[in-house]
Amino acid sequence: MAYISVPERQIPIIYEADVCVVGGSATGVFAAVRAARLGAKVVIVEKTNCFGGNATNGLMAVWHSLMSTDLKTQVIAGLTDEACDRLHPFDVRVDGAKSHIFNPCDMKCVLDDMCRESGVKIYFHTVYAGLSAEDDEIKAVFVENKDGRGAIKAKFFIDATGDGDLCRDLGVERYTNSKIQPPSYVFLLQGKDRAYDPITGQCFEADACSILNAHKEEFDVEQDHGWSNTLPGHENLSMRVDTHIFYVQCAEADDLTKAELVGRQKMRKICRVLRKYGDPTERYAIVNDASYVGIRDTYHYKTKYAADYIDMFTCQPHEDCILRGTYSGDVQNEVDGTTWMDLNGTYTRMDPYGRWFSGNWRAEAGLPTDGEMPTYYTLPFKTLVQEKCKNMIAAGRMVNADPVAFGAVRVMVNLNQIGEAAGVAAYLAVSQNKSVQELDGAEVARTLSKGGSANLG
Ligand SMILES: Cc1cc2nc3c(=O)[nH]c(=O)nc-3n(C[C@H](O)[C@H](O)[C@H](O)COP(=O)(O)OP(=O)(O)OC[C@H]3O[C@@H](n4cnc5c(N)ncnc54)[C@H](O)[C@@H]3O)c2cc1C
Repeated sequence: MAYISVPERQIPIIYEADVCVVGGSATGVFAAVRAARLGAKVVIVEKTNCFGGNATNGLMAVWHSLMSTDLKTQVIAGLTDEACDRLHPFDVRVDGAKSHIFNPCDMKCVLDDMCRESGVKIYFHTVYAGLSAEDDEIKAVFVENKDGRGAIKAKFFIDATGDGDLCRDLGVERYTNSKIQPPSYVFLLQGKDRAYDPITGQCFEADACSILNAHKEEFDVEQDHGWSNTLPGHENLSMRVDTHIFYVQCAEADDLTKAELVGRQKMRKICRVLRKYGDPTERYAIVNDASYVGIRDTYHYKTKYAADYIDMFTCQPHEDCILRGTYSGDVQNEVDGTTWMDLNGTYTRMDPYGRWFSGNWRAEAGLPTDGEMPTYYTLPFKTLVQEKCKNMIAAGRMVNADPVAFGAVRVMVNLNQIGEAAGVAAYLAVSQNKSVQELDGAEVARTLSKGGSANLG
């Protein structure tokens, strides 16, 4: 590669804080709010115009259940619960599985309010563009916005960029899973999923993805599978997640561009196939699309402990437990389709052709299949502790986990808790003048519980 030299320049320090959070999904916001409520001076940097990441800009407005799998005990509380309570009742629906399906616009406002009320300094339209580190410590991050390039100094940094941009620049060891979970291009479609049968002249229920699969040569698409859901207050609108884009690594510029181009084409094809083969009485139209392609999986960064699905799903105790979760190990790829591994020992798989398979992963792993099964899983703090830099913690889908554990941890009710744990850890590191590696994980867990988080008591 050829290079160009840039003359040395003075970068203005635009802000100084105890804790700087980079990335403003709910993971980043909850990290910032937690640290600020404990008394830290906090700044958050977000490259788009709002908070929420995939939940708002990505239109992926589903937070899974906060309850144990038997629905008897609330196992997730804290800021996830608070944010759900702050949504206007018209803007949230709780379904039979106790998931919260919400209006992404209302969620943006809730996250704004939580940050503002906690006194967090907010920078929107501000992109992280590099860092300055000395002696295994980050001194400042560089950001670009309408004012040009600036530096933000802080005692502690939280990488909530999803892809782990700070980890990358620090040279933390990284890896990808053998099959990267593909991104999808989420959009809102007006009109019901129904196919028209020209022989009977009748319409019947059929999901848009299977209609597209039936005409895949005509529309030039690969076999795919997906799902859709309605949003509260928009009953003739569906949020569509049936647009996988295969064989891309979205943490790389060319592939990310390709994912946007292919995803948008696929969105248009779904609308067109319904206009041609769907219910002729429906006025199918794309109402809105995500601000950017929805990314499930890119790089993961090595930490002291990699989440292991057998440990997780057999609910091994951890004194430094920072998360309780119930969502299944949801692993998607182009070859196998989607597999859901559940805490009760079963798995189900839908292949790209819509065929269903099932089995028992506990039996396959040589574990007992009878007796009482755990109703939630846990994750220890050491999963978040990288060993390269003293004052940085990564929170988000860059988590160090095997593919099944990642399939479970990657959902937002879980990453929200990881964000809260990162915020608490940042506050403790600053107030005790310790590195992230020196922190007492059990104290992080206790401080989380005291703040009403993750109901860990
Ligand atoms: C199609 C799809 C469907 C899904 N379905 C569900 C579901 O139903 N329920 C569920 O809970 N989970 C679901 N997930 C998973 C979940 O949405 C993601 O795993 C989660 O949102 C990742 O959160 P994150 O905080 O790690 O990253 P992100 O949500 O990607 O947030 C990263 C944030 O950092 C910002 N950022 C990135 N780089 C920079 C930079 N350089 N400078 C400044 N800011 C930056 C981004 O703008 C963004 O706001 C789905 C994912 C996809 C893709």
